[in-house]
Amino acid sequence: ELSGDLERAWRLMREVPDFPEPGVLFRDISPVLADAEAFRAVVYGLARTAPDADLVLGIEARGFLLGAAVAYACGTGIVGVRKPGKLPAVAHRVDYDLEYGQATLELPEGTVAPGQRVLVVDDVLATGGTVAASSELVRQAGGEVVGAAVAVELAALGGRERLAGLNVHAVFTV
Ligand code: AMP
Repeated sequence: ELSGDLERAWRLMREVPDFPEPGVLFRDISPVLADAEAFRAVVYGLARTAPDADLVLGIEARGFLLGAAVAYACGTGIVGVRKPGKLPAVAHRVDYDLEYGQATLELPEGTVAPGQRVLVVDDVLATGGTVAASSELVRQAGGEVVGAAVAVELAALGGRERLAGLNVHAVFTV
């Protein structure tokens, strides 16, 4: 029963204070992924976001684990958006600002085709910068972002407001 399994997933989520730096409360979904029922419940929760998607884009690295499962559940392909220096052939690159410092994401060559309807998947939505950058990569490739699905939304950090206009779905909001 799926809602019982979602409760199970909620209980399996770990909070790690001061990781990766002081003051950050890290939400660790690893135990959720390791549990068959909880994993399935979260994956189906994410997959409901955009039934019309025809491609899923997962963000390195925990977004790969969820994204591939969501893509399989939706019957679509999966694209991994990567941190710099990992891809042999880069279609597009976006630099963006983090709370402290900068980050870069890259889209692999030969993945998103013009006109494709893409669902972006990640583990945690914080400020929304990562999902915004991934969405920009999809647009640069001529694709359309039809939704963003995350396991956990940190509401206080304003990601949903930053992504205004985008269909954002979170399985859990804290
Ligand atoms: P943001 O770009 O600020 O929305 O940050 C989201 C990205 O950073 C996601 O890829 C998350 O994996 C990671 N992240 C940010 N904050 C946290 C947190 N408190 N716990 C776990 N992951 C986080």
